[in-house]
Amino acid sequence: MKKHNFSAGPCILPQEVFQQASQAVLDFDNSSLSILEISHRSSAFVNVMEEARELALELLNLENKGYKSLFLHGGASMQFLMTAYNFLNRKAAYLNTGTWSSKAIKEARLFGEVIEVASSKDTNFSYIPKNYSIPEDADYFHCTSNNTIFGTQMKSFPHTGIPLVCDMSSDIFSRDLDFSKFDLIYAGAQKNMGPAGATLVVIKEDILEKVSRQIPSMMSYKVHIEKDSMFNTPPVYAVYVSLLTLRWLKAEGGIKALETKNKEKAELIYNEIDRNPLFKGFAEIEDRSHMNATFNLTDQALKEKFDELWKNAGINGLSGHRSVGGYRASMYNALPLESVKVLVDTMQELEKNG
Ligand SMILES: *Cc1c(COP(=O)(O)O)cnc(C)c1O
Repeated sequence: MKKHNFSAGPCILPQEVFQQASQAVLDFDNSSLSILEISHRSSAFVNVMEEARELALELLNLENKGYKSLFLHGGASMQFLMTAYNFLNRKAAYLNTGTWSSKAIKEARLFGEVIEVASSKDTNFSYIPKNYSIPEDADYFHCTSNNTIFGTQMKSFPHTGIPLVCDMSSDIFSRDLDFSKFDLIYAGAQKNMGPAGATLVVIKEDILEKVSRQIPSMMSYKVHIEKDSMFNTPPVYAVYVSLLTLRWLKAEGGIKALETKNKEKAELIYNEIDRNPLFKGFAEIEDRSHMNATFNLTDQALKEKFDELWKNAGINGLSGHRSVGGYRASMYNALPLESVKVLVDTMQELEKNG
């Protein structure tokens, strides 16, 4: 039987995507060729790339609004430096909400001055700072919408007169936002959108005018846009499996429908964390992530017992990140509600028999 997969990333994808993806390795679109052995310049693959790029914009409701989408290599980590390389001319403002924001800040400092507008490091990133001010003369403001490791999520985004750049790796396509407020969104595919190896970048074309330095071709958004995301060999298979996942998302009813399901899953686990005296949540309640629920036992002596219970229930990937400890239930788009019910059952079983 398939495991209940709470892995934080790479993560669960829809079962039908795994089936279609494996079929395409053997025979892609009845071509008698594998997707792994065709030219990325072939019309069959160019169609895949174009559909994936269009579908990403359609699902974000950003069609015909001056945005372009790209599927690049290098993960979200490459975007930490690429955003700064392209847009940090003098100084940029960053909100520090966790490990990934901190890494983005570290890379940006190589290119100019970084103003850290606020940080929640004082409590090991258990909350999202609020009421900070953003210097209006900064080149852009950068934030992380969902903090995968700490289980916090931004519920609102600041209004600024400067470009808004957001790392949405772990909650893209999971909730309905006004995406037209953002000038640049990036997301490593492996949290909510596909397998590891591709990174989605959605960029408002008019901010490209702000690029002032010479950028090596592979680091230049402008070059990748001009070449329709095919400047060099793209991560062909990762783009294809991302396309399959995006098609699934659309068939499920799009972002709004997914948001409803994700809310239901999140409420189920958080209600149990708050009700069950053997557990406590890590993140501030108002900032809790609907994607990654972080929690711990109130009594560490029960650890062995609980670990045995969930492993026997067929659960995978529940151990917390080393910088938080405890447990983390990652409930990305493709995780069924049923899996969260199984987890809640094991928590209740611990309470009964612990
Ligand atoms: C996982 C993750 C990253 C790093 O992604 P890579 O693709 O491994 O570079 C960056 N930001 C967030 C929010 C993440 O969850």
